[in-house]
Amino acid sequence: MMKSIYLIAGILAITVISCKKENIEVKKVDHSKMMNAAHGEKLNVKVVNAEDPICGMKTAEYLKDTANYKGKTYGFCNSMCKDEFKKDPEKYAIKE
Ligand SMILES: [Zn+2]
Repeated sequence: MMKSIYLIAGILAITVISCKKENIEVKKVDHSKMMNAAHGEKLNVKVVNAEDPICGMKTAEYLKDTANYKGKTYGFCNSMCKDEFKKDPEKYAIKE
């Protein structure tokens, strides 16, 4: 009698663990889809910054939008990062 209870508990534990694993995998797939949708095709523009100053993405790989500030062209991975830059450009601009 006791043995069958342990067996049922064991099966339940395995089921819970495998369900958790599936959930994590699904989340990973959704995240990469979101990243692709957010970035899409990159622009072919020369920018002064190697990395998006807002989020740190490489502009060489993820350039989607640009802004001019004090004669320099800054690149961003999306328009949200550009908007953030425009709120306080002095904070993010490259100092000389
Ligand atoms: Zn960004």
